[in-house]
Amino acid sequence: MWCLEQITIAAPAKINLSLDITGKLENGYHTLDTIMQTISIEDKITLTKTGREISVFCDHPQVPAGDGNICHKAAQAFFEKTAIEGGVLITIEKNIPVGAGLAGGSSDAAAVIKGLNLLYKAGLTQREMCKIGLKCGADVPFCVVAGTCRAKGIGEKLTVLPSFAGVYVVLVVPDFFVSTAWAYENYVLDSTVEKPRTEELITYIRSRDIKNTAERMANVLESVTAKKHPEIREIKNDIKKSGACGSVMSGSGPSVFGLFENEQKARIAYSVIREKYNRSYLALTIDGGIKQWQN
Ligand code: ATP
Repeated sequence: MWCLEQITIAAPAKINLSLDITGKLENGYHTLDTIMQTISIEDKITLTKTGREISVFCDHPQVPAGDGNICHKAAQAFFEKTAIEGGVLITIEKNIPVGAGLAGGSSDAAAVIKGLNLLYKAGLTQREMCKIGLKCGADVPFCVVAGTCRAKGIGEKLTVLPSFAGVYVVLVVPDFFVSTAWAYENYVLDSTVEKPRTEELITYIRSRDIKNTAERMANVLESVTAKKHPEIREIKNDIKKSGACGSVMSGSGPSVFGLFENEQKARIAYSVIREKYNRSYLALTIDGGIKQWQN
């Protein structure tokens, strides 16, 4: 019988169209109310069946190999949950900027869980895969579902929203690193920063109103990250001046993106923005679902 031994799937990045912090739990985790959106910048994850070992290799100098990689944790959690006596060689082709607020590691972990489910024909439901993912990180359940979602709790209470796919995005990744833990620790709860109006935003997403959605995007963590790195505000202004309907920081930063009404406006903006910022990207919002390459 023909048997699948290797699979290559995409692990796409996410942006936050909005991010609000609603509280802090006793264990130190913050609770959120955020709208997350998958975009077309993606890592390529190849999984190859092996005996009982889990090994991880990545071509990026800032991403650890072996058991320091979040993918190792994901594979371990998968084999534990399914009680399958298997192993896997994981190879990561890194295209998502690291430590940029784009959930690169979380998306890789989700791809490992989804890929192993196919490779080992484990038959896990999406809900079961989300539960495994949550053991690896708060953003992993979203990356399992992907597309357009509202996330509450620490990120695990997901509501799938109507598709907001096909919207053009120009994204800039500044050259400094922001620690997610540092940004959350330094956020002052109940501070008077601009809060996203999430319900209103969802109404505009539902009607695919790019202009009104973009104009209402907000991220409370900007109050922390942009205070230390004023460049964030400069990038936001540059993206807006280039023709975006609105611009905001993603996650804990430092990535900043803008949304555009159409391809032409986005391409013109991208050509301007990349003159000033060397890590600039033109991307599209995309739906969930597994993108797979033939091995
Ligand atoms: P998030 O938006 O989920 O907070 P991020 O995009 O800010 O994440 P990542 O790119 O996921 O940050 O990387 C954060 C850290 O995790 C890095 O310092 C990196 O060394 C480590 N790491 C472990 N495994 C991976 C992986 N597969 N891909 C990227 N980083 C990884």
